[in-house]
Amino acid sequence: MQDREDDLMSSAGESTGRGIEVGDSREATVGGIRVRRALPRRARRTVGAWCFADHMGPVSVTSEDGLNVGPHPHMGLQTVTWLIEGEALHRDSLGSQQLIAPGQLNLMTAGEGVSHAEESTRSYEGALEGIQLWIAQPEDTRHGPPAFEHHPDLPKLAISQCVMTVLIGDFNGISSPARHDTDLVGVDLALRSRIEVPLTPKFEHALIVLEGAIRVDETTLVPGKFGYLGANRDALVIESLEPSRAIMLGGEPFESPILMWWNFVGRTREEIDEAHRSWQSDDGRFGSVASDLARIETGPPYWNGF
Ligand code: MN
Repeated sequence: MQDREDDLMSSAGESTGRGIEVGDSREATVGGIRVRRALPRRARRTVGAWCFADHMGPVSVTSEDGLNVGPHPHMGLQTVTWLIEGEALHRDSLGSQQLIAPGQLNLMTAGEGVSHAEESTRSYEGALEGIQLWIAQPEDTRHGPPAFEHHPDLPKLAISQCVMTVLIGDFNGISSPARHDTDLVGVDLALRSRIEVPLTPKFEHALIVLEGAIRVDETTLVPGKFGYLGANRDALVIESLEPSRAIMLGGEPFESPILMWWNFVGRTREEIDEAHRSWQSDDGRFGSVASDLARIETGPPYWNGF
């Protein structure tokens, strides 16, 4: 998450199928663990307010060696953490300390500023896999206070051997209790057959396959691929070619262009510079996290000549 913007936006989209834009995720390393970064991409910075998607693992972790992301700041976004397998520990500057396991959702709202650490539990051994997503906050709430929510149980829908879990927003008549500041949806799809799901036509949608292989509009999507579906669809047929798991993201096209650098989402270079200075000088804006891990720092934004 410390890339220069030109690196961050390196993957251009290619069109295929009936209006599906398929792109490649980028490999990166976060907290010692390999991730596939589906968003942002040069050709597709946002899907609704969704602006970042890292598929982490699967990797094998031990009680000594696992996820180790030290305290770092966020601004102007919400982090959504969803595990497929394993456990992780969230600590933040609000004093939250929350173990997360598969089927549970951690949602942290940064607003004007928050910091957190993502740690191994020091007891869990086995496979670790999940996805971390960021949601850009709208003008209305992005200067507001930080917040943290943990949802131990989310609404699910089972149709033809497929289980759909609504992480955030409304889908197929059911609603997630998670906070959302813009009109959007995020759904975990555990797929075993062919299903047709209703979509909100005013939303643009995208699919990120975590496991298996699915077919949409004559296009096959597998892990490492990002499928952008566009807007104006009122339904979607998804065929799973093998037992598969995918994340569907959707939302009303975001209200304005965003500027994303490191762990910050803003609108201008000045506000990103200011956030970076606050974190480097530890002036209290981002609070502090009770973590044994080292604070993560980075050099100033590249537009300052570094
Ligand atoms: Mn973070």
